[in-house]
Amino acid sequence: MRLIGAIFLLGWSLLQSFFAHRLSTKAGIVAFREKFAADRLPNVTKEERDFLTQASGCIACGLCNVGEGVAIARSKGEYAGPMDLALASSRNMPDYDAAIASIAHVSEDRLRIIEAICPGRVPLVELTRFIRRKAEDARKMGESATAT
Ligand code: SF4
Repeated sequence: MRLIGAIFLLGWSLLQSFFAHRLSTKAGIVAFREKFAADRLPNVTKEERDFLTQASGCIACGLCNVGEGVAIARSKGEYAGPMDLALASSRNMPDYDAAIASIAHVSEDRLRIIEAICPGRVPLVELTRFIRRKAEDARKMGESATAT
């Protein structure tokens, strides 16, 4: 009897997932944003994907962290320097709230100076703007998900 129940349940779940996918009126970006809102994972455009490729050129040389010791210490653990921004904080969009707390400790002017010496040509200023935009987008996705 339990086997029949399990087979029925599996069959029912299969039918549900089969028809839910085909009968859904939502598709593309709308469906993606709805599905990943709870994960705080916004969609990216083709231009943003190209930008992320360009922004991933860090070779971990550490040059950008030179002179950042005071800002790092003053941040009490929120800011680990531009190398962390290039290599870690900017890599996972659901964690961008932490990245925003980090980049609050370094100015765009300072990052512009660092960009000029960066051998990996990492566009740090634009990267911080991207992080702010996507964190805001993730926040809005979360709000609309809880409102529905
Ligand atoms: S200077 Fe550029 S390449 Fe070197 S660690 Fe910093 S971001 Fe990476």
